[in-house]
Amino acid sequence: MEPIILTLSLQKIKDFLEEFILREARIRAMWPLTFGLACCAIEMMATGCSRFDAFERFGMLFRASPRQADLMIVAGTVTKKMAPLVRRLYEQMPEPKYVIAMGECAISGGPFYDSYSVVDGVDKIIPVDVYVPGCPPRPEGLIYGIIKLQEKIRRGEIKR
Ligand code: SF4
Repeated sequence: MEPIILTLSLQKIKDFLEEFILREARIRAMWPLTFGLACCAIEMMATGCSRFDAFERFGMLFRASPRQADLMIVAGTVTKKMAPLVRRLYEQMPEPKYVIAMGECAISGGPFYDSYSVVDGVDKIIPVDVYVPGCPPRPEGLIYGIIKLQEKIRRGEIKR
């Protein structure tokens, strides 16, 4: 009887370690899609530049192909013309994948919320995991949003 119990326990430990290692690897190496829509993208770029130097420190490398990316930072205004392309890029990203809505435009349409040509929130077309408010948010805001996303993944709150 004892060897069976020991085997079960070892299996549980192995499963736990595998899940833990995979999750930590994902958290510490999120690869965002190279993707900017409007003025918020300037602050996103500044986040990776020398003053803040945040992306490399988080293990984040921007990728030009959605097939190599697991994070989409929607930085800017989503126009109705652009919306199907944003959706398609999201669908081309492999699972598990995450989305940060950066700035008021991506969250709710921002100053263009009642425009005939603007989507009033990117969450109308793709699921959003973290919202970073501001017009535009400063790099510290985006860094805080990335940390919040890491915490959500670590707690297993994102199930997709
Ligand atoms: S939230 Fe403000 S800064 Fe960002 S894209 Fe919209 S208008 Fe530009």
